[in-house]
This record gives sequence, structure tokens and C-alpha cells, in this order.
Amino acid sequence: MTEKFAKFIEVALGYGIDIPFVYGIPDDLSDHVEIGKRVLVPFRNKEVTGCIVGIKKETGIENIRPALAVLDPFPLLSPKILELCKWISEYYMCSWGQAIEAAFPAGVKLKGKTGNSGIMPDYSKDKPVDDLIVPGKNTFPLTEAQQNALNEIFESTNANRFQSYLLEGVTGSGKTEVYIRSIKKILEKGLDSILLVPEISLTSTLVSRFETHFGEKIGVFHSRLTQSKRRSEWLRIKNGDAKIVIGPRSAVFAPVKNPGMIIVDEEHDSSFKQDTAPCYNGRDVAVLRGKMENAEVILGSATPSIESYANTITGKYKLLNLPERVPGRKLPSVITIDMRTDRVKDDPAKIFSRHLLTGIQERISKNEQTILFLNRRGFAPMVLCRNCGANQICKHCDIAMVYHESADILRCHYCNSRKKVPSICPHCGSGEFGYYGIGTERIEEEARKFFPDARIARLDSDTARKRGYFDKIMKSLEEKNIDILVGTQLLAKGHDYPDITLIGIISADGMLNLPDFRAGERTFQLLTQVSGRAGRGESPGEVVIQTYNPDHYILKLAIKQDYKEFYKQEDRFRRALKLPPYSRIVQILVRGKNEKRTIKTAIGFASKLRESISGRNMELLGPAEAPISKIQSKYRWHILLKGDEIESLHGTIKKTYEEFLKDNKIGNIEILLDVDPQSQL
Ligand code: ADP
Ligand code: ZN
Ligand code: ZN
Repeated sequence: MTEKFAKFIEVALGYGIDIPFVYGIPDDLSDHVEIGKRVLVPFRNKEVTGCIVGIKKETGIENIRPALAVLDPFPLLSPKILELCKWISEYYMCSWGQAIEAAFPAGVKLKGKTGNSGIMPDYSKDKPVDDLIVPGKNTFPLTEAQQNALNEIFESTNANRFQSYLLEGVTGSGKTEVYIRSIKKILEKGLDSILLVPEISLTSTLVSRFETHFGEKIGVFHSRLTQSKRRSEWLRIKNGDAKIVIGPRSAVFAPVKNPGMIIVDEEHDSSFKQDTAPCYNGRDVAVLRGKMENAEVILGSATPSIESYANTITGKYKLLNLPERVPGRKLPSVITIDMRTDRVKDDPAKIFSRHLLTGIQERISKNEQTILFLNRRGFAPMVLCRNCGANQICKHCDIAMVYHESADILRCHYCNSRKKVPSICPHCGSGEFGYYGIGTERIEEEARKFFPDARIARLDSDTARKRGYFDKIMKSLEEKNIDILVGTQLLAKGHDYPDITLIGIISADGMLNLPDFRAGERTFQLLTQVSGRAGRGESPGEVVIQTYNPDHYILKLAIKQDYKEFYKQEDRFRRALKLPPYSRIVQILVRGKNEKRTIKTAIGFASKLRESISGRNMELLGPAEAPISKIQSKYRWHILLKGDEIESLHGTIKKTYEEFLKDNKIGNIEILLDVDPQSQL
């Protein structure tokens, strides 16, 4: 059978299968075969799409089946990107095909049979880009700190040397300016740059700032664009028309020919970590791609992740510091308000302290603006029966549904299912319900009661869903048509509000109490980011953090806005408990619709794992029900494996996994691996 083909290809499939499959190439396809193109191949009794990862003249394998069609006119991925995907598959413990799928342009998939929709257009059909307006560029002298940082960066640029930098600088210290000048230098050398940002749809000001400097050389990986627009941007990048790519984590795979620099802005942001397979962290992949392609890497943040900062101490990254804001932008003062003593009496929702109310009133009378921040959308996160106390739990997820007043509906924030508030309680027949807790909708409504003449707007993922809404709000803020803006962490991402002189953080407590060792770090980051958005010049403004735990060490550190001190304390805590970066963690999530079998699988897998680690320097936690024990009708149990070296964790889990699957039929139960997990929920 085998000898009838003159050529063979190795194909990575999008399933969880580790090894590429080998197929024969019929003569009529021979000319089209190239590494990085997709092919249609028979697999079991189906036809599926895979990616060519190797071409061979011979194979020792018997009974080779022929490939059916080559699907792309040109390779979608370069050999270097394929190699990067290979590394991702090993490090994040997924198949090569799954990693490759993550690197494909938006909407292009592996797995099932493809119709026309997945096929890339030919270059010739490429459309010209819209003309860009290039307004005048501002010129100002760099601060000394900016100049020092750039000198270091240029040193590696001139030497064509891979180097990772951590640029630590308070918000408004001029980090973005450093990015712009670094990229200019890279561009002068004829090389390409990639800038990863947390949430591209919220960074229109950043993008337009880059467009001011680089015009049509910018290519944007934008999740809000139509699929065909996204593809044409991808092609502009691949063709070399766009030499600076801005995008979210997937832009780390941007098909630039010659990357000289990869920048990750707000590197601490958890959106760089993908929460489905492959669970890669775009920030860490950026460092790896930089190394593979000999490009410089800059990770920037006002509040670097503990892991990245630790890397500056070991010397893996070089630390660059911008300790002060640029001239004319002072940091606001931050205080905590004890809600146990300063709560306003006639505020049934318990939203406002006296201090905050007075502050808002003052701002309104001076025609200044206020932001009210709470990291929870909706009206009331709990609707309880007043008679028996029963909560409205989502029937697909083990989590309370949130009441949204504008639509008069209960919504699950995990699966998005909705239902009306029942007219009678299914448990006791009572007809009376109480609405407890607060969300942004409620804050907006209560603020209207206290300030009936104020112009109030709300920005959260419910309102920002509408295309253009974010930009509209930003414009009204600028034109001073808003007195109070209520919002979630969307407010904290990548946008400055220099004219805002008061920021009220309605409650810091919810974030602090999450069952996750990163709760403190996340709270510190969020508070610092939100605070740092405000202020300039003579009116640096004030940040008011409301809490019932004013003595919590994280809040005390947040008031001081002292990252170094925060790092020192957090580092001590991580070291004492042997948490990352003093250990590595792999989270194993066992998930399934059948609760009994989910538990049985979790227990079985954990005991097998316990056997394999006995006598070795590893620690196993669990199995335990996950904090959110059911999502979308699937029960969830998890196991954490902790160890000193990632390689031995990889090896142990892989071996256990294979043995476990040999001995057990797990059917529809999934075992999902998350290396360096960012959340324990
Ligand atoms: P960051 O990214 O650290 O938040 P930016 O680079 O966005 O800071 O700078 C904040 C603001 O200060 C921007 O409007 C920018 O144009 C301006 N800026 C940057 N560097 C300087 C400088 N050296 N002198 C004056 N203004 C500056
Ligand atoms: Zn009841
Ligand atoms: Zn749900």
C-alpha cells in the first residue's frame, strides 16, 4: 500500500491527540503541499481539517491513507510559529493541533469539515486600507527616567540582541511614550513590532495615539471587527504592509516576518491567560517568541505580576523604572473610609459613606467629574425569599443569579441564562422577595436619588456591548456632559481620565475575599489601576476606598501606592506558603454532566496521581469540589499539583494521565489541564 505515494505529510489535528498523523500525497496534490497549509484528511470515519507540519519522502508506517485536498493557497503559519506552537503544546499540555488552532487567523479552524467560510482569500483580493488622518505629533522633552529606559532598550536594539525588560512605571509615568519611541527605532531598522494590550475594544485612544505616529503601518487584531475585516488586516500583516501589530493575546501569533520587538502592556492583566485549551499566557509566550526570533521584549505595568517582578530579581528580565508621573500629572491622594462608622443613615442600599457623598456634591458644584467604581454589574446579586431565605440559583450553574432591573430579569453571569423573578417562592410558597447586595445598576439608581440633577452614565459590559458606546461615553466625559460615571473594571483598563477629580471605590471587600491566593495581588492591582486613571496638574484629585476592613494590609499598601512595599510583603507570603513563583502549579479540572461519575473520576485520577508522586518533591491538593461547583450543567472538581520544577510536573501528569485513561473509561467526563493557572474558581 505505502509505496504508491511519492510524498507523505505529517498533519496536526485539532483534537487532544499528541502525535501528528501521517498521510500520503496523491500526485495531483503534490505541487500544492507546503508546511503551514491546511489539508482535508480522512480521520476515523470522518473527513477533518488538519495543518501540515512536516513533509517526508518515506515513512515506515503501513496502510497510509491519502490526503483529500489542500485547503490554502499559501501557508497560514510560518515554520517559526509552528515551532512556537509545538512549545506551547508541550508547556501547556495540549496537542500541537490545538496550539496551532490558537495561532490561526480569526475564524479559521481545524477539526470538522470546512466549508468556504474557513478558507483564506488569495492575496490578489486584498482590499486597500482606509485612509488615515495623521494629526500633528506632540513634542516634549523626555523625562530622565524615560531617557534612561530608552538608552537601555536601544542598546539591545543596536546589538540585535534578545532581551526581556520589565518596565515598571506608575500610571501616567510615560510608559506608552517609551513604547512608541522603541518601536520607531525598530521600524527604522526595517523590523516589525507587536504590542499586546488587555482589551483592544477599550483601547481606541491608545490605537489612535499609535496611528498618529505610524499611520497605515499599524495593523489591528480587533475582536469587534467583522470577520472579513479581521482577515484582511491579518493579510496586510502577513504581506508586510502593516509592520506594527496591536492586539489582544492572540496577536502574539501575528504573522509579521521579522519581529524586532514584542511589547506587552499591562502585563499583569489576567486577560492574557486563555481559559480554554490551550491555556496559554500571551505574556509568557511573548517572551518565548522574542527569544526564538531574537526580538526584544518589553513587559510594562504600574503593578507588575509577582512572577514577572521576581524574574527581575533572578536576572531573567532587566528592570526599567519610571518612578514618577510626567510633569503636570500628579498622583491623586488615596484614603480608605470605614463603612462601619461613616455610612450614611438614609441609604438603604449601603452604598455611600458621608465622605463620598460630600465629595460628589462638591465636585458637582465645581463642575468637576466623579467616577464610582464597583466590580459587579447588575442591580442586586442576590434575590432572597423573605420567608424562607431561599436564593435564586441558576439551574445550570451553582451560582446565584443577578437581578437586572432595566430588563426586570434574573441573569446568570456564568452561562447567561435568564428568568423572571418567580411570583411565588418554589420552596415555601411565599410571594415576597428581598433584593440584596449591590451592582452597578443599583449604584446608578441610588446616585440618581441623591443627586437628581446630576448627569449620570454607566459603563459596564452590559452597556458597552453596544458598538461605539465606549467611545461615546469617553467623548461625553471629555466634553463635560457627564457628572458621575458608574462602572466596573472596564473603567480601569487602558484609559486615562485626567479631568476626573474624585474616584469612589464603592467596596473593596468583595475582591479581597475571593478564595484564591492571588486575591490580594488582584485587589492591589485593581485599586492602583483605578486610582491611577485620574488626576493632572493642579487638581490631582482624590480616591476614596470604602471598606469594612480598613486594617487589611492590602488596603494599607494600596493607600500608599507603593508597589515595592507591596511586592516585599506579597513575596514573603508566597515564600512562606511555597506559592508561585516559589513553586509551580498545574490545575486539573474534572468536569462532567454526571455528578457521580465526575466525582469518581476526580477521586480516581487524584489517587493515581498520589501514587506517582510518592517520595517525590511534589504536593497534591484535593480532589475537592471547585469553588463554583457547577457551570453550564457541568459539575466541577479540581486537583492542584504543586512542585519545584515544571518539567517534573509535566512528566508526572502526562504519565498518570496516560495510565489512567488506559485503565478507565471516562466517557464524557473531561480532564482539563491548566499550567500556571490564574484563577482557582
Ligand atoms: P503611561 O503609559 O505610563 O500611563 P503615557 O505614556 O500615556 O503614560 O503618558 C501620560 C501622558 O503624558 C500622555 O498624555 C503623554 O503624551 C504625556 N507624556 C509622556 N511623556 C511625557 C513627557 N516626557 N513630558 C510631558 N508629557 C509626557
Ligand atoms: Zn421561600
Ligand atoms: Zn448559569
